[in-house]
Amino acid sequence: MDDEPRIETRAIHAGQEPDPETGALMTPIYANSTYEQDGPGDHRGFEYSRTGNPTRSDLEANLAALEGGEYGRAFSSGMGSINTVLNLLSAGDHVVTSDDVYGGTHRIFTQVYEEYDLEFSFVDTTDVEAVREAMREATELLWLETPTNPLMRVVDIAALSAVAHDHDALCAVDNTFATPYLQRPLEHGADIVSHSLTKYLGGHSDVVGGALVTDDEALDERLGFYQNSVGATPGPFDCFLVLRGTKTLPVRMDRHCANAKHLAAWLQGQACVDRVYYPGLESHPQHDLAARQMDDFGGMLSFELDATLEEASTVVSETEVFTLAESLGGVESLIEQPAAMTHAAIPPAEREAIGLTDGLIRASVGIEHVDDLERDLEQAFETAGLV
Ligand SMILES: *Cc1c(COP(=O)(O)O)cnc(C)c1O
Repeated sequence: MDDEPRIETRAIHAGQEPDPETGALMTPIYANSTYEQDGPGDHRGFEYSRTGNPTRSDLEANLAALEGGEYGRAFSSGMGSINTVLNLLSAGDHVVTSDDVYGGTHRIFTQVYEEYDLEFSFVDTTDVEAVREAMREATELLWLETPTNPLMRVVDIAALSAVAHDHDALCAVDNTFATPYLQRPLEHGADIVSHSLTKYLGGHSDVVGGALVTDDEALDERLGFYQNSVGATPGPFDCFLVLRGTKTLPVRMDRHCANAKHLAAWLQGQACVDRVYYPGLESHPQHDLAARQMDDFGGMLSFELDATLEEASTVVSETEVFTLAESLGGVESLIEQPAAMTHAAIPPAEREAIGLTDGLIRASVGIEHVDDLERDLEQAFETAGLV
């Protein structure tokens, strides 16, 4: 065992020292746009808050330590962090990514950056050979997500990072669903980890933010250049909220995982449920990979009801503990119907073809008592006439 503090300890202490003057334990909210200089250019580490702010610096150090990386950068949203990775590329470059990538990521790829002459190939990233075949001379980036949304596919970060590196491309992993408590992509060879802090890292559905972490100093400098030049940086209040959230990430994730595991098994036993998508189930096609790559299986699950679009809509409308809402990763349980909500923009035939059926329901399992969550789903199934 090395003597590096464990992640539970880093979550609370990394990047945060009591204030040397006052002894204040918590990082203050430094509500400053600018900082006194002792002479022109002679400052104490901060000159202007888009470039750097002490509350943000502590958050960035904390996030880097959680991912086991050297360098962290915080952004005003997850999309702000994804945009910054794309800023590394030039017209004519090619990107390989997954065919079930997060909707906002698909949108910035196809509706923003294709206009700037970047090219994107969408492939099944659970198939390492398919990814290898999609790589080209011009491929500069492999963008991965695991587990994916909403079907919880798990992709092999180590194998795919190696494919990217064989082609001198960067491998970036969106680690929003797993969080660093369950999965640390840098350990598996990824070059950049991306986060929506809005989800589990913030953890309380009260802040929007993003982050990038890397071990490569030169790469971090380039990311920092775009962070400062583009300016999608978070304010100190938002950084404070995320710092408050990360302290309890390990205990929250333990409960999210335990509750999701229980509900996945319970759902599998329900007559009106055709399929449950949860990496912790042995029936999950990448269960062994998930067990190797992750420390636990997370708080997100999906299930397919033997039901029409309307019946499934009734289920998500009738839950009382689960709130009908998009987003995920907060302490409260959320439920949604991808075909009618997050993935409604995909044409029905295409949706069915990739497994997003009308009866598919996605849950972000919160940290309430699991008995209340199970009872809540049961009464919603009954109200919808499914049992
Ligand atoms: C929410 C989310 C994003 C985008 O993050 P925002 O904070 O909403 O900008 C990116 N990737 C994944 C996997 C997400 O869930």
